[in-house]
Amino acid sequence: MKILVINCGSSSLKYQLFDMENEDVLVQGLVERIGIEGSRLVQKKDGDKYIIEEPMANHTEAVGHVFDALVDSENGVIESLDEIDAVGHRFVHGGEKATKSALINDEVKAIIEDSAKFAPLHNPANLMGLKACEELLPNVPNVAVFDTAFHQTMPAKTYLYGIDYKYYEEDGIRKYGFHGTSHNYITNRAAELLEKPLEETNIISAHLGNGSSITAVKEGKSFDTTMGLTPLEGLVMGTRSGDLDPAVVTYIEEKDGVSPSDMNNILNKQSGVLGVSGVSSDFRDLEDAAKEGNERAKFALDMFATRAKRYIAGYMAEIEKVDAIVFTGGIGENSIEMREDILKGFEQFGIKIDPEKNNVRGGEHVISTDDSKVKIMVIATNEELMIARDTKNLVK
Ligand code: ADP
Repeated sequence: MKILVINCGSSSLKYQLFDMENEDVLVQGLVERIGIEGSRLVQKKDGDKYIIEEPMANHTEAVGHVFDALVDSENGVIESLDEIDAVGHRFVHGGEKATKSALINDEVKAIIEDSAKFAPLHNPANLMGLKACEELLPNVPNVAVFDTAFHQTMPAKTYLYGIDYKYYEEDGIRKYGFHGTSHNYITNRAAELLEKPLEETNIISAHLGNGSSITAVKEGKSFDTTMGLTPLEGLVMGTRSGDLDPAVVTYIEEKDGVSPSDMNNILNKQSGVLGVSGVSSDFRDLEDAAKEGNERAKFALDMFATRAKRYIAGYMAEIEKVDAIVFTGGIGENSIEMREDILKGFEQFGIKIDPEKNNVRGGEHVISTDDSKVKIMVIATNEELMIARDTKNLVK
């Protein structure tokens, strides 16, 4: 069975074609600048790159080029589009009704459209990818995999905000959580590596990348997570502020006459470690700048570590018994120093990172000392594979 996984952004599209026989990635690619001058598709196979540079006015045209690339006689990996058995799509927000992945039908589309009020940039972009596939591959089933679904097991005490209950009842304002596909993958993989049944596995999953979130997983299910109604809550991120006193927002809006949509842009695009450091949102740049003595880059990294530490410690108390703390995402998998900084202070609870074992990037490793009370692990995440697996299970 061959499954195409599509992850659409507002002007970009990432894809991977899986052969589910042995879960091999046959090919992967990225389309950028959809609807903007300079549209470009780059497909990678065994280290070779195939590039298409042609105008792509919308997602349907972009998906059309993806299909051309997949069946290209020289650079493609399939002979005909008939070989694609199903398409799995990443959707950012599924609200309260999307509790798991689903075969696309009118009801699921209505859920996605309704949830777009909380993900106005993402859900419509994700839908454009779906519409393109429905148009160009009318006989192939489509599956929606939601970033929020894994977190629908959170109890009310962790998902409610401390505001008038009517906002929850009338408008659905609550914590939904994101990166669910990644936290779900990490939970499953950690359970396998720990050799524990999933329903007995308690972990703290730290997905640290451009966007970052930490999830407390109790008995294999999401119990609490740092992102909220939108991905803005929680950790200090590349360009997102994470938690702050809501009065900061109203103060800036009033003082500078900033509109809600501009404020949204400030908090999502111009804040986080980029805003604090004034250097970059990229942790490699920040680590370099900090080494050269840039004070603000150092603050930014320290703030990131401090908040991650605060959440990990809090979540450990929330779920009471923890089997492992797992790092994933670009920073979690690669930043040796950040992992060490985050876990500084946990030694007093018998949780100890082993500096030598921690000297790894990517892959799957236990990086704690043999006598550490809680295992510390690095597990490279694989959201696309999780989407492909869910898609396979739903169309089988
Ligand atoms: P996204 O959320 O866009 O998927 P990623 O998970 O790819 O992001 O993470 C991107 C982040 O990972 C960037 O801040 C990048 O600097 C960081 N990163 C990647 N490699 C390293 C490394 N070797 N050391 C430190 N940070 C790294």
